[in-house]
Amino acid sequence: MQSGHDRGTVVAHVVALDANQRRVHLSDGQTLAYERLSLDVGSETDVRWLQATGPRLLPIKPLDRFIAAWPRLLAQAGAQPGFRLCVVGGGAAGFELALAARHALRRHAPEAEVMLVAGPAGVLPGHAAGVRRRAVRQLQRADIAILTQRAVGDERGVMLEDGQVVHADVVLAATGARPPAWLADAGLRCDEAGFVAVDAHHRSVSHPDVYAAGDVCCRVDVPMARSGVHAVHAGPVLAHNLLAPPRSAALAVYRPRRYSLYLLACGRRYAIASWGPFSAEGAWVWRWKDAIDRRFIARFSGGTLETDTEEAAR
Ligand SMILES: Cc1cc2nc3c(=O)[nH]c(=O)nc-3n(C[C@H](O)[C@H](O)[C@H](O)COP(=O)(O)OP(=O)(O)OC[C@H]3O[C@@H](n4cnc5c(N)ncnc54)[C@H](O)[C@@H]3O)c2cc1C
Repeated sequence: MQSGHDRGTVVAHVVALDANQRRVHLSDGQTLAYERLSLDVGSETDVRWLQATGPRLLPIKPLDRFIAAWPRLLAQAGAQPGFRLCVVGGGAAGFELALAARHALRRHAPEAEVMLVAGPAGVLPGHAAGVRRRAVRQLQRADIAILTQRAVGDERGVMLEDGQVVHADVVLAATGARPPAWLADAGLRCDEAGFVAVDAHHRSVSHPDVYAAGDVCCRVDVPMARSGVHAVHAGPVLAHNLLAPPRSAALAVYRPRRYSLYLLACGRRYAIASWGPFSAEGAWVWRWKDAIDRRFIARFSGGTLETDTEEAAR
């Protein structure tokens, strides 16, 4: 955020935005005025139709809450014979989560059951047929049941559209993105789903002093999937434009490529690569993904990434 008076870092959550008054309201009670705003707050998991699941429901986002809950889930699974985990969402996030959970549970609760509710479009809709076949094979090898029906929340787990109840101790939701609720009252023009409408410069189409990239925005000129690939590549374009002189004619444009590379982790040290019509899989894909991820994170942590990923991947 650029403000006319103070520049610095404020660690707080945005709880409201008034784009007409150029004011951001924070969770610590502060109100900040800005001249230009870069809005990159991502998205939340859309769990509207899973609410009836109640305390058993664990959405993947916000990520900090998920990370805090994960060790408790493993402890519960280890202590509870016949533990059943249901992952809802057949996209890349649900696929990776189901396999990662299976991998972790092998150590903590080898008898636990893992199911993936992928919806009528099946696993990895939007990816090529070859990728989807590989994905289904990996799920079957990991002994993960795939249910291709729409599900709604139920206090026992989830209910499928044919009325069958899938009993689950925990329901992990990776059910697509929705914008943060406070965005609806910000005064910015949004698409019908409520994401900030931006042009090729990643500038709000209604408020030229507001820029947005990543999951929170929607390009009005080209279809663009909500993915980390686009969030990362649009970032430098946004940064350039944010710092450009007022009314500059030389704003940068982000042109999403036709195909994005997706490297989908399969829990153990194995991954599937998906790029348009092409696909591949193997331990080498996992090593490739791991190297890319580590390099990316190291850029922000100022050195080599030190995590327990090595141990967890074994
Ligand atoms: C399990 C999983 C696997 C995925 N795998 C891939 C993949 O392999 N490849 C790929 O391209 N994409 C993948 N994605 C999608 C990718 O993670 C997102 O598209 C990407 O993170 C979006 O980036 P972003 O910066 O917009 O949002 P985020 O990465 O969500 O970052 C948003 C940031 O804003 C902060 N924030 C949120 N609300 C507020 C607030 N009110 N005030 C202040 N700060 C706030 C958050 O704490 C966070 O730090 C995956 C997603 C999931 C869930």
